[in-house]
Amino acid sequence: MAIEHTRQHALVPLVAAILIAVLAVGVSRPVLADHLVTFGSSTCGDPPGQTPRNCISVGDNSTHYVYLISVGTGYTNAIINTMNGDYGPTDLTMVRLTQNSGTDVQVLDDDYGITNVAGWVECPTWAPQGTNAHGDRWCKFQYLRFNLNAAVQSYWIDAGSRAYMACHEMGHTLGLWHRASNTSSCMIPDVPNGPTNLDGTDTAELNNYY
Ligand SMILES: [Zn+2]
Repeated sequence: MAIEHTRQHALVPLVAAILIAVLAVGVSRPVLADHLVTFGSSTCGDPPGQTPRNCISVGDNSTHYVYLISVGTGYTNAIINTMNGDYGPTDLTMVRLTQNSGTDVQVLDDDYGITNVAGWVECPTWAPQGTNAHGDRWCKFQYLRFNLNAAVQSYWIDAGSRAYMACHEMGHTLGLWHRASNTSSCMIPDVPNGPTNLDGTDTAELNNYY
């Protein structure tokens, strides 16, 4: 799939056209923080001041260290399951840390008082980060937040939706972007009870990169 493997800058006109087409048919506002379809890092907080500030980053290497700062049982299980079942079988090594040291992803869930976003990922401004050989921003200590607000409860009230969310947001911490037209990947945006696993395209992207 040429689109999925092509760098963002070569795709801007096409992606813009797709976005216009999507908007034209009246798709409702995204519940997950929105991104274009490609692989690699995205700008954090673009446009400036967006709420919540979010972005896609890549890992600094093929070992992805995850620390659960404050996560309820439901999302704890979902994170462990996606680490073991979705990302572990790729060329990545997924490690759940017992202390917050050398961390790639810090996971939290809470009612953030936000009514239109069910989960998002951010590279904090203070975090160790840099640009790799691909021109992407790698970032340590990325925040992965699941929003437990009642307005988006269809995304977290059941195990299947949490599995979709965990797979989806973890993908954003590794460089996976949305795949809006794909129904077999958890990287499709805005689908409660959506696909709970990566598909072959996602795993190929990850294995090619890491
Ligand atoms: Zn997303």
